[in-house]
Amino acid sequence: MSDYPHLLAPLDLGFTKLKNRVLMGSMHTGLEETQDWNRVAEFYAARARGNVALMVTGGIGPNPEGSVAHGAAMMTSQKDVDNHSIVTDRVHEAGGKIAMQILHAGRYAFSPDCVAPSGIKSPISMFAPKELDAEGIEKQISDIVACASLAKQAGYDGVEIMGSEGYFLNQFLVTHTNKRTDEWGGTYENRMRLPVEVVRRVREAVGHEFIIIYRLSMIDLVPNGSTFEEVVQLAKAVEKAGATIINTGIGWHEARIPTIATSVPRAAFAWVTKKLMGEVSIPVITSNRINTPRVAEDVLADGCADMVSMARPMLADPDFVNKSAAGKADHIAPCIACNQACLDHTFGGKISTCLVNPRACYETELRIEPADTPKSIAVVGAGPAGLSAAITAAERGHQVTLFDRAAEIGGQLNLAKQVAGKEEFWGLVDWYRAMVNLHGVSVKLNTEVSATDLEQFDEVIIATGVVPRDPQIPGQDRDNVVSYIDILNGKITAGTKVAVIGAGGIGFDVSEHLVHDGNSTTTNLPEWMKEWGVTDPESHRSGLAPEGPRPHAPARKVTMLQRKTTKLGKGLGKTTGWIHRASLTMKNVEMIGGVNYEKIDADGLHISFGPSRDNPQLIAADTIVLCAGQLSDRTLADTLEGKGIKCHVIGGADVAAELDAKRAINQGTRLAANL
Ligand code: NAP
Ligand code: SF4
Repeated sequence: MSDYPHLLAPLDLGFTKLKNRVLMGSMHTGLEETQDWNRVAEFYAARARGNVALMVTGGIGPNPEGSVAHGAAMMTSQKDVDNHSIVTDRVHEAGGKIAMQILHAGRYAFSPDCVAPSGIKSPISMFAPKELDAEGIEKQISDIVACASLAKQAGYDGVEIMGSEGYFLNQFLVTHTNKRTDEWGGTYENRMRLPVEVVRRVREAVGHEFIIIYRLSMIDLVPNGSTFEEVVQLAKAVEKAGATIINTGIGWHEARIPTIATSVPRAAFAWVTKKLMGEVSIPVITSNRINTPRVAEDVLADGCADMVSMARPMLADPDFVNKSAAGKADHIAPCIACNQACLDHTFGGKISTCLVNPRACYETELRIEPADTPKSIAVVGAGPAGLSAAITAAERGHQVTLFDRAAEIGGQLNLAKQVAGKEEFWGLVDWYRAMVNLHGVSVKLNTEVSATDLEQFDEVIIATGVVPRDPQIPGQDRDNVVSYIDILNGKITAGTKVAVIGAGGIGFDVSEHLVHDGNSTTTNLPEWMKEWGVTDPESHRSGLAPEGPRPHAPARKVTMLQRKTTKLGKGLGKTTGWIHRASLTMKNVEMIGGVNYEKIDADGLHISFGPSRDNPQLIAADTIVLCAGQLSDRTLADTLEGKGIKCHVIGGADVAAELDAKRAINQGTRLAANL
C-alpha cells in the first residue's frame, strides 16, 4: 500500500475525474508574457507528465483595466485562444488537466486605469482606483464571463475565478474596501452579490461539463475583513451558483502577517479550510506551506480538505507526484519557501524560476542530457554551487568526485539551517545527500585537496566558497569579538547584550538566531499564531487577534549596525525583507545605520556618525558578532591557474558579493549541463 493513500486517491467530479488530490496552484511566472507559447507549454507539460491532477495557470486578465499590470497576459481575443491552445494541447497529450485562472486585480492593478468598488487606494499600490458605476460593474462581469468562454474554446478543462488575496472580487466583499450604498455594497448580501453573480453567469456561459474553481478568502488578515460566518455564507452561495470546487485563499497581499514565507509553519492554515468542511458538498482545497507528500497526506487524512494545492513545490520538482507514488519522497527537490527565485522575480519584473531547480520555467533552454563523452570531473567544495554541479554532471553520466574539507556536505546551508525560521534548509541538505547517492558521486569529506591531487581529472570545478571579510576595526582581536560562523554553528554562545556588525542577509540571520535562542515558532503553530496575532476567524473577524502580535521576549538584547545610511535590510528579498524587519522589530532589536566603527573594548562597540565622526556613542555589548560580508576563497583556483591547470570557478569563489544559494545553484547546474 502507498505511503500516501489519501493524496493519491482519485477524485470524481461527476463529469470528469481527477487522478489524485494534488492541485498545482496558480503562480505568476511571467512565462505567458514572453509570448513564447512553446516555452509556456513545456513548463505545464512537464508538470502534467509529473502526474499532478490539475494545474491552474498564472492569473490571466479579463480586460485591460483588470489586468495586474500593463502588458500582462489577457484572454480577450481569438489570437489569445490560438496561443493558449498550444498549451492545453500539450498538457492533454501529456495526460494532464489544466484550468485557467481569471484574475481581475481591481485596485491591486498596477495601472492608473484600475477600478474598484470604492475609490480607496491600497497601501501596496501607487494608483487610486476609479470607483465603478453600475454600468462599469456590469462590464466587468461580462468581461469575466467572456474570458471564461474563451478559456473553454482554448481547450482548458476549467477556470479558477480568483476571489481571494484582496483582488477585485474580494474587494467587494468587505467594508475595508467597499463603501458603496447601492445594491453592490452595504449589507453582506449586497457585498457578496458580485462574486456570486460572476460564478452564476460563468456557469451559465460554459455549461455543466467544465470545472469552475472559486478561490475564496477564508481568513483575510486585514482590518474589517470577513467573519467566518460570512465565509460560510459565501461558500454556500458560490456552490449554489455553480462552482465545482472551492479553493482556499489566505490573507490579502497587503496583510502584515506572513502567509507563505519559509518562517511560516508547514500547513499553517489547513485548520482554516477544515472549518469549511461539511458546510458545502463540493470538494474543498487547502493551501499554503504544504511542501512534502507527508504534510499533504496528513492534512488530508486529518479531514482538513479534499485536495491540497501546492504551487511553489511544483516549481522545485515537477515530478513531485510521481516520486511520491514511487515511494521516493526523499528524491523530491524541496521547496524551501524562500521566494527568492519565484515571487521575488515576479515582483522584480523577471521570469520566475526556482532556487532549488533552475530548470523551472527554463525547460526548453536548460536541458540535462546524457554526455557525449563521459569525463572524470573533480568538484572542490560541497556547498550549493559544488553540489549542484556534481549531481548534474553525474546525472549526465560523468564520473564525479566531490571534495570538501568539512565533515559533511552542505557548506553554508549548514549554517542557514541553524537559524530560527530556516528549518527548511535541513530538507535541502538531505535532498542533496540523496541526490549525491542516487547519481553515484564519489564524496571525499574531511579532505583538503591540493593542486597536484587534481591534475589527473579531465575537468576541475572550484566551488571553494568564501571567507569572512576582515572589517579592520581596532580591538576586533579581543575575546568578546566573534565571527557569525562560530555563533551559528554553536561553537560560541553570545552574552546577553550583543552588537551585530553588518546588516546583510547574514547579519539578519544571526540576529534572528540570537533573539530566538533555539525557540523557533516555525515548528510551533500555536506560538507562531500568537507571535503574529493570528486567531480563529470564527471568534474574531478576519482572523486578527484583538490584542495584536504577542511575541516571546527576546533571548537577549541585540543591536544591528551598518555603515550605509539606507534602511537596514534594504537588500533582502523583495517579498520577505519586510518579514525579517518586522520579526526583529517585534524582538526589540535596535537597527542603527550610518555608523563609523571606532573601536571595540571591554565595554562594547564604540561608534560615531557621519564623515566628521560626530556623536560618539558606546553600544554596550558583551559580545560583538562580525557579519561584515565575504570575500571569494580563490586560493586553490589561483594555485591551479599558476600551474597551468584549467579550472571552472563557481559560486562564492567566483563572485562573493552576490554570494547566495540561488546564484550558486544556477551557475553550478548550468556549467555541468554543458560539460
Ligand atoms: P552582505 O549582504 O554583502 O552584507 C554585508 C554587510 O556587511 C553589510 O551590511 C555591509 O554594510 C557590511 N560591511 C561590508 N563591508 C564592511 C566592512 N569593511 N566593515 C564593516 N561592515 C562591512 O553579506 P552577508 O550578510 O554576509 O550575506 C552574504 C550573502 O548571503 C548575501 O548576498 C545574501 O544573498 C546571502 N544571504 C541571504 C540571506 C537572506 O536573504 N535572508 C540570508 C543569509 C545569506 P555596510 O557596508 O553598510 O557597513
Ligand atoms: Fe520554493 Fe524558493 Fe523555489 Fe520559490 S525559489 S519555488 S520558494 S524553493
